[in-house]
Amino acid sequence: MAEYLDDRRDVEFILYEHLGVQRLCQYEKYSEFSKELFDMVLDQGLKLAKEEIAPLNEVADRVGAKFDNGVVTLPKEFRGPYKTYCEGGWIGVSSDPEWGGQGLPRVVGMSTGEFFTGACLAFMMTPSLTHGAAHMFQTFASDELKNLYVEKMYAGQWAGTMCLTEPQAGSAVGDVKTSAVKEGDVYKITGTKIFISSGDHDLTENIIHPVLARTPDAPPGIKGISLFLVPKVRVNPDGTLGESNDVRCGNIEEKMGIHGSSTCTLNFGDEGNCIGYLVGEENKGIVYMFHMMNGARINVGLQGSALGAVAYKHALQYAKERIQGVDVRNMKDPNAPHVAIIEHPDVRRMLLFGKSVTEATRALLLKTAYYADLAEVTQDDAEREKAAGYVELFTPLCKSYSTDMGFEVCVQAMQILGGYGYCKEYPVEQYARDSKIASIYEGTNGIQAMDLLGRKLAMKGGTLYMNFLADLNAFVEENRSHETLGKYVEELAAAKDALADVTNDFMTKSMSGDTLYPISCAMPYLNSFSEVVCSWLLLEQALIAQKRLDEISSEKGATDAEALKALAEENDEAKFYAGKLDSMKFYVTQILPQVKARAASAKSEDRTILDAVL
Ligand SMILES: Cc1cc2nc3c(=O)[nH]c(=O)nc-3n(C[C@H](O)[C@H](O)[C@H](O)COP(=O)(O)OP(=O)(O)OC[C@H]3O[C@@H](n4cnc5c(N)ncnc54)[C@H](O)[C@@H]3O)c2cc1C
Repeated sequence: MAEYLDDRRDVEFILYEHLGVQRLCQYEKYSEFSKELFDMVLDQGLKLAKEEIAPLNEVADRVGAKFDNGVVTLPKEFRGPYKTYCEGGWIGVSSDPEWGGQGLPRVVGMSTGEFFTGACLAFMMTPSLTHGAAHMFQTFASDELKNLYVEKMYAGQWAGTMCLTEPQAGSAVGDVKTSAVKEGDVYKITGTKIFISSGDHDLTENIIHPVLARTPDAPPGIKGISLFLVPKVRVNPDGTLGESNDVRCGNIEEKMGIHGSSTCTLNFGDEGNCIGYLVGEENKGIVYMFHMMNGARINVGLQGSALGAVAYKHALQYAKERIQGVDVRNMKDPNAPHVAIIEHPDVRRMLLFGKSVTEATRALLLKTAYYADLAEVTQDDAEREKAAGYVELFTPLCKSYSTDMGFEVCVQAMQILGGYGYCKEYPVEQYARDSKIASIYEGTNGIQAMDLLGRKLAMKGGTLYMNFLADLNAFVEENRSHETLGKYVEELAAAKDALADVTNDFMTKSMSGDTLYPISCAMPYLNSFSEVVCSWLLLEQALIAQKRLDEISSEKGATDAEALKALAEENDEAKFYAGKLDSMKFYVTQILPQVKARAASAKSEDRTILDAVL
């Protein structure tokens, strides 16, 4: 059974040294918390992840969810850890205490989320969806519905889902056909949803489905979609369980990964007896659902990053232990000593890719979560506006870049393990299989790219983008003459100019009616945007790391490069900060230059993508 290998040191570095999240405690909402309390939460989360959740990962994969005669079961080993997870208040770790949540900042909740998800993604599907659904009901449902459902969901007594997809309505969510016909105070729901994660299972006594459906006279498309709360088992006014609500699981999918998560076809109202309760107003369902999806997209980004992170850690461990071949410089010497594969330059390249990309996406995700927290608590209107703008702008990057890169890190980890990477004896092939779905659900990554280019750039008259550019320009100006890191800041400046140039071109084209060409470049554009942001974040971290490393080396009297290297080998903190500098240097010199190459492609005006005969 594979151990969960965490990177708590980097998580703490981002929280306290990079973002300074302890500052949130100065605001009323978080005034009862402190860095010490955040540390305790990280301790407990990591302990639970390692001791109870990680041991589920193999059984989740090998046994998986089962469907038998209309009944869905999850591996029985899930039950104990699910109870512990719920009793620890982890579903509502960042939710409102008024509804049974723990009220912690989201950025701290996300940090423990990395531990849980990296330990076993399939297990985490049910609690994550339950949190998202409960939060949406808490925000938009009537008091009556909230009082009946929300607290029990945050407590994990009842689970939640997210029911959008239908056979003809995947990415095109506006094509939903499930119908909702008003009968008195309630609605009769009829239709089929497919691919519903945790749609049915035996972990909880009830499952509460947020269902997108259409009333008979609703306008076509997304403006005619309403949101309904549909319980699997009806709930009496006193909160006790009543009769079954005519929601049946028709089947579960056989999948490439996350076998321990049931992916269900749900039939609503086959017997004409499925009741749904309207959430908010009719025809506003998509607005409410997007509220849930925006949070969920950042969480799905975390799935990609977390699985990449743990795959990298396993690959690193293996590379230090696996002896194979000799140092390339001694190849002709038959008596040369054999070395661990971590000595081979190509293996080092793959390891540094995993390390730098993982640290970059972790920083992107946690910074976005921090902005979400800040937007909620700050009293300063301009700061709130800007923080909320960053959440909007970075959400598609979090979802798309972190999941594509997380999967790629898993694939590289398999490569580092050679033949064993392809075998079930080691966990990395499972991480790769489990992580792939994250680029597909919650709006495919292609849809995220269009969201960035088609919606977020123009949002609020372009101010989100302009604020981003102004802040980035200020960072470049302040740091381009830095004694040791200035040359990397110059690389960032050049990539930023290339990105800004392409953005201007795309805007001009779109305004003159040529929207198709920019859209055909949307995915490379999102990747370039992400790489600029990630380089910026890694450079912010490198500036801190350089300072700390200088302090440690002057304390220890390590003045030249040789002494510094020796210090990094024997002193954990020096090693960590030197490693942060290495991550930035690798990312900025090996990954960031792609921005300029993609800009050249975008400016080529070549329209093969649009015109090719396929
Ligand atoms: C394991 C699993 C769990 C899931 N869990 C849930 C869940 O809990 N709830 C739920 O509601 N759904 C869930 N889904 C469904 C998932 O969200 C959809 O599969 C996804 O949104 C894509 O829809 P689709 O499969 O119909 O693909 P399609 O929409 O047919 O897309 C196929 C391809 O075409 C591209 N494409 C489609 N339209 C456009 C466009 N306009 N512009 C550019 N490219 C486009 C897509 O990016 C994709 O590459 C799950 C799916 C799986 C496999």
